[in-house]
Amino acid sequence: MQSIKADTYSIYFNNVGYEYLASILKPTYYSKIFILVDENTNEHCLPIFLANLATEIEIEIIEIESGEEHKNIETCVQLWHSLTELGGDRKSVLINLGGGVVTDIGGFIACTFKRGIDFINIPTTLLSMVDASVGGKNGVDLGLLKNQIGIIKEPKAVVVISSFLETLAQLEMRSGLAEMLKHGLIYDKNYWNKLKDLTLLQIEDLETLIYESIEIKNKIVSQDINEHGIRKALNFGHTLGHAIESYFLENELKNKLLHGEAIAVGMILESYISLQKKLISKEEYAEIKYILDTIYDKVIFDKKDIDKIIDLLIYDKKNEFGVIQFVLLDGIGKIKINQEVENKLIFNAFDDYKLA
Ligand code: NAD
Repeated sequence: MQSIKADTYSIYFNNVGYEYLASILKPTYYSKIFILVDENTNEHCLPIFLANLATEIEIEIIEIESGEEHKNIETCVQLWHSLTELGGDRKSVLINLGGGVVTDIGGFIACTFKRGIDFINIPTTLLSMVDASVGGKNGVDLGLLKNQIGIIKEPKAVVVISSFLETLAQLEMRSGLAEMLKHGLIYDKNYWNKLKDLTLLQIEDLETLIYESIEIKNKIVSQDINEHGIRKALNFGHTLGHAIESYFLENELKNKLLHGEAIAVGMILESYISLQKKLISKEEYAEIKYILDTIYDKVIFDKKDIDKIIDLLIYDKKNEFGVIQFVLLDGIGKIKINQEVENKLIFNAFDDYKLA
């Protein structure tokens, strides 16, 4: 598979990725390699990765606990200490081997340790392959608020090894699929059409679909790395999706929602709002809702939940001058950014979501 050129780095695939790593992980470039893992990627991915990695540089492994609840500043403090105690210096390189939690936090740690060291993302979940590892957004949650602390800085490289997905749970695969569906909805109707009939897809198609998804994300990010305009498209489904994810993260009475599961609900709600603003047709809305409802379980919300979720919208990172800004669909495959939406419409969207 051909490498994809991003703004300041490239995304390499499979063996070409290992060859790239061998070419840069040289003692003349780097003093030490740190590999950040969580307990699952330590068990399932690290042995394979190390067996294929050709380097003479000393390697240190640092493990964090898996899960969104550890994507916070406390984990960062531990990591800054670990890097210091293990002799990290400005010529160290950090390899983030994991899902979006590891690549988000690892990128942030690398950008801040000694005012910045190189980092390489090796995504091991579908979600981090098609989305989190690409585009240079790094950061952590602040309490229950998603990604409030962070920095935009591109990695030195991304290496996608698709065989890592062999050990990934089905639920996590489904979570990653949400971001792929989003890429189709916001940018490429043909890609959406390909994905929407999952029953026709074979497992061999997955590599190509991952590749196409990364291409879409990269095309959008390359035009607007700092998210002043078009990059906001990637937040479709995330304004309400992030608020829902945050709310479920802190609420012990609720089952945990994976990132992609929350985003899938967010995409249905924001598609409903797009319909009400006459930006998509009834047929388009019905299709989006049907496809997402078929793949993802219904989430139950009561009035109190919805009130709290709407309260959380004031912390959304797209807000400007205190105004909540939505990204809405403008037909499948296109978007409109900076859309203001009245609360009544959000309540109506939740009401409609309940219906089959
Ligand atoms: P995750 O990192 O929590 O990984 C999901 C689970 O899979 C974890 O338990 C992990 O240990 C396990 N795992 C990872 N790889 C595995 C493998 N190969 N085999 C078996 N188990 C494996 O979650 P995620 O869905 O990858 O990422 C979600 C995070 O990504 C969220 O914090 C979200 O905010 C962030 N995100 C960031 C961006 C960005 O642009 N930076 C974009 C989208 C999402």
